Amino acid sequence: MRSIQRGFITLAALALVVVLAACSRDAETGSGKLQVTATTGMIADVAREVGGAYVDVTGLMGPGVDPHLYKASQGDIRKLEQAKVIFYNGLHLEGKMTDILEKMSSSKLVTAVTESIPVEELHSGKDTGGTEYDPHVWFNVSHWMHAAEAVRDTLVKADPDHAEEYKAQAEAYLAKLEELDAEVRERILQIPEGSRVLVTAHDAFGYFGQAYGMKVMGLQGISTAAEYGAKDVSELRDYLVDNHIKAVFVESSVPAKAMEAIIAGAAQKGHTVSIGGELFSDAMGAEGTEEGTYIGMIRHNVETIVEALK
Ligand code: ZN
Repeated sequence: MRSIQRGFITLAALALVVVLAACSRDAETGSGKLQVTATTGMIADVAREVGGAYVDVTGLMGPGVDPHLYKASQGDIRKLEQAKVIFYNGLHLEGKMTDILEKMSSSKLVTAVTESIPVEELHSGKDTGGTEYDPHVWFNVSHWMHAAEAVRDTLVKADPDHAEEYKAQAEAYLAKLEELDAEVRERILQIPEGSRVLVTAHDAFGYFGQAYGMKVMGLQGISTAAEYGAKDVSELRDYLVDNHIKAVFVESSVPAKAMEAIIAGAAQKGHTVSIGGELFSDAMGAEGTEEGTYIGMIRHNVETIVEALK
């Protein structure tokens, strides 16, 4: 009888050990972390940099995904519901997610990372048939620093216990972005002045052009949701021919066929234009690669542009 009782006690103790072990494993794999969901890859990357080990970040839009046209799936809605904090770009980039983001903001912290950029720094999107403001602010690195600050401030609010860590991680990341900004400026200067023209499928590079001294032209307007016609194609073709532009660029999140048509059109007029390479405009590269980070995507774009046009 005694030994049976001892047996039960041993079993109960064993069970307790198993339960405790499971709990501590849970904490390690992130159930104790702040749950964050971000729309674009660029924003998810900033949230990971600033949040570090204290956040668990889920990004909704992977490589090659066009945010202008993106609709939230049932799975996305679940990921948004599970988050304590949601980050999105705003300025109507995620045009088809406006309603769902608005709905979520009644029950959790929802931050548009562009909201802290001074409004006088924003470009109008109306002249290219788009939204009130051009949403592609991440291509001016100093604008994106405002986004990193907005992420920091929201994380501090959501999880004040780690405020000091978030502030320190943000400071380290902001220093890297400041270096990147100077690096881009310097690299673009290596393109001869007359060749500093960036021709792409859609108008994603307006802030980039203004910040770093390039003229930018896109076949499609600010949003890929806008239509473009034969007139846009022939105008851009003639611009390439008249200005002896030697390279145009395709984008990872926009089909390349329109740019190919323009190149063929220029060839018929006796002017050879090449595809200078693929740029990451509205989505980053594959996860686990350099281009799968914000800093890496900017570097990739700048190297591609400089190599093709210098
Ligand atoms: Zn875009």
